Amino acid sequence: MAELLKGAPVAAAISEELMKRCEELKKKGIIPCAAIVRVGERPDDLAYEKGALKRFENIGIEVRHFVLPTDCTRSELLSVTDTVNSDSSIHGCLMFRPLQDRETEKEACKRLLPEKDIDCMTSGSLGSVFTGSGTGFPPCTAQAVIELCDHYGIGLEGREIAVVGRSLVIGRPVSMLLMQRNATVTMCHTRTADLAGVCRRADIIVAAAGHAGLITSEHVRPGQIVIDVGINVTPEGRLTGDVDSASVEPVVAALTPVPGGVGSITTAVLAKHVISAAQNCA
Ligand code: NAP
Repeated sequence: MAELLKGAPVAAAISEELMKRCEELKKKGIIPCAAIVRVGERPDDLAYEKGALKRFENIGIEVRHFVLPTDCTRSELLSVTDTVNSDSSIHGCLMFRPLQDRETEKEACKRLLPEKDIDCMTSGSLGSVFTGSGTGFPPCTAQAVIELCDHYGIGLEGREIAVVGRSLVIGRPVSMLLMQRNATVTMCHTRTADLAGVCRRADIIVAAAGHAGLITSEHVRPGQIVIDVGINVTPEGRLTGDVDSASVEPVVAALTPVPGGVGSITTAVLAKHVISAAQNCA
């Protein structure tokens, strides 16, 4: 049976390190602070926010809340962005997306100061993930995959990695981060001719397709590491990944569970970005 690569120990180790860094900052009179901007009350936003608040509180990060109604105007949202930008006590901003008004969302993202962009909302941050310039913060989920590999001592250099999914939120940025670690990455998508063959050839599979049970025993071989980023809800309301764990787990060397895998690392990465943003300010 595969080793289960759980996210909780990874998140705990990151948090422990962040508590120390937070203490150091506070000794210098800097209180790390994140703004949370939410429009409406979407259940998945509220669930993520609850997890982030708990993590921030545990580490010692302060939070400023900006909650707007779903029918808020363009100028109301943009004025929140301006407030976040102009308040030097706020070091980073998490804005829940997508918004109903995609144009205003784009404008708000564009307006956010790059140094406060802890969730890769601006094209500048995303650009730096692709150029590898080291400025800006990558998307938290993509970075969570790297943190998981580092924590469990999964070497990336020279490994063949199949990333299933090419979105700008996960597939493409995680591919870039893996390539920066000298992995050889094949990015797969709905038009990939032989997904099972590409996955079987890889040493590591990162599944980020948003398709429950896509990766089956047909896609894997013994010795592989499978990182399941997918979060899907079954018709019965159960959370499940992109990997059919019942058929994959008996074959591969290691697998991340869903829930309890990559998803449980993302708020720790978000907190890491807030602390780094506060440190950069100092
Ligand atoms: P997305 O924007 O819908 O992108 C999905 C990607 O997967 C697309 O590139 C698509 O290919 C590809 N794809 C879909 N079905 C496929 C198939 N049958 N075969 C091959 N490729 C396929 O989704 P996303 O935002 O990247 O999210 C992906 C998953 O991650 C979702 O389940 C989401 O809920 C989850 N997620 C997890 C976390 C976490 O913290 N763990 C955070 C955010 C999201 P095309 O480009 O050809 O359409």
